[in-house]
Amino acid sequence: MDEKHFITDFAPRLLAWYDRHGRRGLPWQGKRDAYAVWVAEIMLQQTQVGTVIPYYQRFIGAFPDVEALAAAELDQVLHLWSGLGYYARARNLHCAARRIRAEHGGVFPDRLETVMALPGIGRSTAGAILAQAFDQRHPILDGNVKRVLCRLYAIEGWPGHSAVQKRLWRLAEHHTPGERVGDYTQAIMDLGATLCRRGDPSCAVCPFSGDCLAFRRGLARELPVPKPRRALPRRSALFLVILDESGRILLERRPPSGIWGGLWSLPECEERVEPVEWCRRALGYEAEPGPVLSPFVHTFSHFQLKIEPVVLRLTGGESANAVMDARPLLWYNRRQPPACGIAAPVRRLLEQLDSKLD
Ligand code: SF4
Repeated sequence: MDEKHFITDFAPRLLAWYDRHGRRGLPWQGKRDAYAVWVAEIMLQQTQVGTVIPYYQRFIGAFPDVEALAAAELDQVLHLWSGLGYYARARNLHCAARRIRAEHGGVFPDRLETVMALPGIGRSTAGAILAQAFDQRHPILDGNVKRVLCRLYAIEGWPGHSAVQKRLWRLAEHHTPGERVGDYTQAIMDLGATLCRRGDPSCAVCPFSGDCLAFRRGLARELPVPKPRRALPRRSALFLVILDESGRILLERRPPSGIWGGLWSLPECEERVEPVEWCRRALGYEAEPGPVLSPFVHTFSHFQLKIEPVVLRLTGGESANAVMDARPLLWYNRRQPPACGIAAPVRRLLEQLDSKLD
């Protein structure tokens, strides 16, 4: 064990702080419904609480339980996820709901290993669900908890390194109490989200400032150590904005995996092919160039994509052919948008088009 001295009475002191200062009124709080906790935990991965709340309410309103989510079409699920990003989360939720229906009679499982076997659920998320829904004693180690523990114990390695991870799990395990585990889970996440914030920790009012090694050593803002940076590779793509005579825009569904998997996007044209020619060959449409739009860059976690939108107007009307029938296509009416999942940058582009095209 690396720690010679654990912080004493950490859980009771944290719970006392939580009872006075913890966040209240979050729509998933205090739920003993594993499904509701699961949806919240997945949405909260990589997304701030304030952003999540309206998405969560719409999602739970549309799919109030596992059965409803399992019965939904993926398109409906992606539609409600549009704008939240990291769409693999939505695809995994949908896939896991179908697994729960098929393998567990529609009842969310209550064993850690079984929950971890579901798509999109790692050890920390599984522990958080079981602690909050069933009051089972499991440690969690999400981004907030990693930050708090790295600072309390002045751990200087990057939390993504396996040796650091192991040490953090040991600390998380040690401090998780046997009682009020659901509250403790919420409390340590609240501490990280409200006091021990990434950029500007409020050490002056923190109940652990007397114990916190990072604070005592003046390292609070330096820890945790960020991921070693490497320059993101940059790719580029030509996105075709193909307009028919009534102003509808042609969308194409992305393949089920990869970026924006299963979402509707603009048809992508190979860069070495002239767009009008591509439109003729790939879709069977005669077209002419439309207004010029500015390119923009969208950053993914592992690369940057420079998107160059190219507007084309059809000149010969709508003439579906055999090639077109083989592609998953949709004519998108900007004035009556259909309920379908659209990648956020594509949605932004469609909104910007309104001012250019009307
Ligand atoms: Fe975080 Fe500061 Fe509290 Fe340490 S004293 S746990 S750095 S808020």
